Amino acid sequence: MSERLRIAVQKGGRLGTKSLELVESAGFRILRGANELLYRIENAPIDLLCVRDDDIPTFVDDGVADFGIVGRNVLEERGAGELTEVMPLGFGRCTLKIAAPAGWPYRGVQSLQGARIATTYPRTLARFLERNGVEAEIVTMRGAVEVAPRLKLAQVICDLVSTGATLEANGLVAVDTVMNSEAVLIRGASKINAALAHVAASVVQRFRGVAASQGSKYVMMNAPRSALPEISRILPGAGAPTVTPLAGNDDAVAVHAVCQESVFWETLEKLRGAGASAILVLPIEKMM
Ligand code: ATP
Ligand code: ZN
Repeated sequence: MSERLRIAVQKGGRLGTKSLELVESAGFRILRGANELLYRIENAPIDLLCVRDDDIPTFVDDGVADFGIVGRNVLEERGAGELTEVMPLGFGRCTLKIAAPAGWPYRGVQSLQGARIATTYPRTLARFLERNGVEAEIVTMRGAVEVAPRLKLAQVICDLVSTGATLEANGLVAVDTVMNSEAVLIRGASKINAALAHVAASVVQRFRGVAASQGSKYVMMNAPRSALPEISRILPGAGAPTVTPLAGNDDAVAVHAVCQESVFWETLEKLRGAGASAILVLPIEKMM
């Protein structure tokens, strides 16, 4: 058993940088040494194993790594088996979509009956089709799925989409959703070395704090006391706000709240409409 906790992260790719940022935001200082496969954490007994994303579930399953950061789509395609998703991490968001050439007559999943569908996610797609009682032919590709319809290799495709720009550039339109994905923290069934249990617990707790604080904002404003119910209704994903009296004004209060969701300009306009003034929205650095 290793003396240091190992976390497998993607080397480069779409998740690499964000994964390292998460580790650093959690207060773990990364020593980028000569060894590109293994980064040491300076201030905790942790090593980062930098590998191809497809290998991360295997490393965690075999106990070579204690944790892994990988797209939920990769986990789903492999079949989770003994692996568990500890928490979603709030980055690397994308959607596995069914896309068809613009103008293809899609009227729900049943339209896929008998179709040829190209994908790099054959198992996930097969489960989706089965769930919906549809029989179709799956053409498994290693990449560049979006060119399949033009090459007459398939009529439709099933591929990961984040902005949709790739689809559009290939004359395709997303018609259905197979699954939503984002980077997740995974762990295996093997027991973590007792001496490292507290390190593992701290990793989980700190990652949870970073992930929670990233989407959250601290919102402050002044408001007439009578507007409180309306303001509570408008604040996105907030618990009960903290309400404090304002000096020298019996009718007005200061309202403070942590909002778990994005606070948009529209939200601020609604708050103003409800009577709030001096509205401030602040980022949250840490949350526990
Ligand atoms: P590797 O060389 O490590 O095998 P890869 O080419 O398989 O890399 P990337 O393209 O870097 O993988 O994607 C890694 C993960 O990023 C995906 O599994 C997915 O969870 C996520 N992701 C987010 N947006 C997208 C997108 N638009 N297309 C593909 N993957 C995306
Ligand atoms: Zn990969």
